[in-house]
Amino acid sequence: MSLWSIEKPQTEKFIGYEPGTKEREILKKKLEELREKTVEIPLIIGGKEVKTGDTVEIRIPHDKEKVIAIAHMAGPDEIREAVEKALDAWTKWSEMDWYHRVAVFRKAADLLAGPYRFEAIAAIMLNQSKTPWEAEIDLAELVDFWRWGAYYARFIYEQQPEQYPGEMNRVDWRPLEGFIVAISPFNFFSIAGNLPTAPALVGNVSIWKPSRWVLFSNYYIMKVLMEAGLPPGVVNFVPFPNRHAEILFSHPDFAGLHFTGSYATFVRLWKIISRNIDKFRNFPRIVGETGGKDFIVVHNSADIKEAVVATIRGAFEYQGQKCSAASRLFVAKSIWPKFWETMKAELEKVKVGPVEDFSVFMGAIINEEQFNKIVSYIEYAKQHPEEYQIIYGGKYDKSKGYFIWPTVILTNNPKGKLMTEEIFGPVLTVYIYDDDKYEETLWVVDKAAPYGLTGSIFAKDREAIVKAEKILRYAAGNFYINDKPTGAIVARQPFGGSRWSGTNDKAGWFTNLLRWLTPRTIKELLVPPKDWRRPYMGVD
Ligand code: NAD
Repeated sequence: MSLWSIEKPQTEKFIGYEPGTKEREILKKKLEELREKTVEIPLIIGGKEVKTGDTVEIRIPHDKEKVIAIAHMAGPDEIREAVEKALDAWTKWSEMDWYHRVAVFRKAADLLAGPYRFEAIAAIMLNQSKTPWEAEIDLAELVDFWRWGAYYARFIYEQQPEQYPGEMNRVDWRPLEGFIVAISPFNFFSIAGNLPTAPALVGNVSIWKPSRWVLFSNYYIMKVLMEAGLPPGVVNFVPFPNRHAEILFSHPDFAGLHFTGSYATFVRLWKIISRNIDKFRNFPRIVGETGGKDFIVVHNSADIKEAVVATIRGAFEYQGQKCSAASRLFVAKSIWPKFWETMKAELEKVKVGPVEDFSVFMGAIINEEQFNKIVSYIEYAKQHPEEYQIIYGGKYDKSKGYFIWPTVILTNNPKGKLMTEEIFGPVLTVYIYDDDKYEETLWVVDKAAPYGLTGSIFAKDREAIVKAEKILRYAAGNFYINDKPTGAIVARQPFGGSRWSGTNDKAGWFTNLLRWLTPRTIKELLVPPKDWRRPYMGVD
């Protein structure tokens, strides 16, 4: 395999959709067009459309009566068929020169960033209830995953062992033997696209089970991949009811799981895999990025306005439905009155509503189940006044769409339910700490919640920053200094956390790609010995 060079990518630029721009006009038109139709979404198995007749409706979360798509779901026969097609594709794909493989994904990136962009942005907005900004950063992230993935694949192939006189050593970076199962969450288009394709970039084949809630937007990913020339069977688009998962997780050729979703689901899947462990030809690779209970700590030396802006964006953008969303806030007592006065004044300006209205900052919650779950935390706070006080919001309404207004809850217990469980909605719980208990508070931040995904420290005092960075070393896989805990960019802030937040393989970085490879070491001896005896055996 030759090691051609490949250009270092630039991060994809975001389009702002400012008033008066051509892009804004195009996007608005696309939104209208997509809204008018109800499309049918097939499975894609071995490059072919399959319709099972077992369908689900895809609705707009902020306009819940509007069905934008009818999607087919796979049954056991289609799942088995997808495995067969994936394994058929494996031989050629796994042996194809890396340069040709990555060319497909670079083409897909250019298609998504170019001709597909506005329609895909409109689809993300409607299906996932994202604002133009949130949809744009999501799409751009997938473009980055593919471009940087191509670059990192080459970086890995370049890693080769030492040479020595008389021998030649090589490492053959083999893809895994078998198929990868990719299971993606509802909240990010980019993650949905990355989970089946990161393994494919380095020669694997995958069965992709997208989230049932976002099949309309996610189908664009599959269309782009097919147009880019991805060979049939390399990625198979196979949404199926959860109860069929064991068909894949007990198959002898199951080689790995690439998962993003909640902690509870990941644990469930890991248990299914482990009870079938003696059926597999290889020990499967299990990669999972899961939930978070992400924090912002505001030291008394912090710039209050900067900390407030980061808190509003970090906690409430995309309605708090980000694994990295701030959901626990710790503020020093001496600055709390000023902090809250500033934050409240800003929150009054936040508009919640349908995302086609471009003055909106927050859209709707993805579905009724998630809506009810978030509301149950607000209700819990109301029922426990000895521990919680709702100081802002607490309002919700599902008559037209699943809307929950930004909610801020004060607590006197930094280890209570709302400070430790993932809520995954626009609910921020605040604990005010005594200024002279800064270090003690950092230890509470570290120990109270079981997750370890993201977190921020706001301070001007360098000593305070140093202390937070040290004490919170394992509290976050992505740690921010004077920035919000959301919005990691591919290749610049490799993303992922440990503890209950996942296996921390860092999506989009070379470390993740390594999980989908199983190196073979090849040694060639130039002039092999002709005598088996060792030197010490000579006669004195
Ligand atoms: P979820 O766990 O409910 O579902 C994730 C995926 O798993 C979905 O496709 C779902 O259909 C599937 N699934 C659920 N049960 C299954 C089963 N028994 N068998 C097979 N598949 C099954 O999560 P979600 O609500 O879609 O997403 C939100 C969660 O994802 C949050 O916990 C969030 O923190 C997490 N998340 C983490 C990251 C990260 O990078 N750490 C990124 C995005 C989302």
